[in-house]
Amino acid sequence: MSKMDGLRAMREAKYAAAQKAAKASKPAARPKVAPDAKPSKAAAAAKALASDPGPAAASEELCGHRNMSGRTCTREAGHAAKSHRYS
Ligand SMILES: [Zn+2]
Repeated sequence: MSKMDGLRAMREAKYAAAQKAAKASKPAARPKVAPDAKPSKAAAAAKALASDPGPAAASEELCGHRNMSGRTCTREAGHAAKSHRYS
């Protein structure tokens, strides 16, 4: 009985260690991949929201599309909106 308990305890300890290792490795791997590889719709929306109120912050990444009167689109680069904004 005690032998079995010891074996089970060892197995559980190993399992817990493996779980911990898996959990520890995940958060470290995620930030590397998430921002660049897959810009999700939510991320794009957050980006649009973030760049909307502050023209100064958005000035780095602009669509740059020009309309007929020579004005430049002030939306963020690759904006989801179909229309360009010249304000
Ligand atoms: Zn545009």
